[in-house]
Amino acid sequence: MPVIAYIGIGSNIGDATANCRKAIELLSEAGRVVSVSSFYHTESVGRHEQDDFINAVAAVETDRAPGDLLKACQSIEDRLGRKRGVHWGPRTADLDILLYGDLVCGLPELTIPHPHMALRKFVLAPLAEIAPDAMHPRLCRTASQLYRELKDPHTVIKCRQETKKT
Ligand code: ATP
Ligand code: CA
Ligand code: CA
Repeated sequence: MPVIAYIGIGSNIGDATANCRKAIELLSEAGRVVSVSSFYHTESVGRHEQDDFINAVAAVETDRAPGDLLKACQSIEDRLGRKRGVHWGPRTADLDILLYGDLVCGLPELTIPHPHMALRKFVLAPLAEIAPDAMHPRLCRTASQLYRELKDPHTVIKCRQETKKT
């Protein structure tokens, strides 16, 4: 049975918008991309001496097991030239599995729901846009509830329509 997984995508090196578009295109290798949020211009979180990010969320209907989906995401990051260096540092592409159906999984190499998703405006704004009713299976709150209740001071601005692929 296919599952809907939500993938958080971010980039802040080079043409970040093009990198996110390319990542979304490549995600079709992992399943059927059923919806994509707007792109958001977001202030970096954690390490401030780096450029702002472009962030988006894609919904993928997939037959892949969670570990295989993670491998597919990491392969996309690699092909987009990600160098693994500073944690929370700049990157050409970062793909995080936010939700995988109603799965709860607590392995260090794969924690689902993504451990920080409920604290991040750059995740919840695009997720609530495309899936307001998506349920966080641990917190038992929907994406739109989490977004409304969120107290994250970082700036997150929806990009103008023309930054999206037409
Ligand atoms: P953050 O996880 O805070 O967003 P990050 O995306 O910068 O930080 P990475 O360096 O991309 O962190 O990933 C570190 C490790 O996180 C990966 O090797 C991966 O095994 C693990 N990981 C755990 N849960 C997930 C998940 N839900 N999605 C993607 N990676 C995950
Ligand atoms: Ca991340
Ligand atoms: Ca990551």
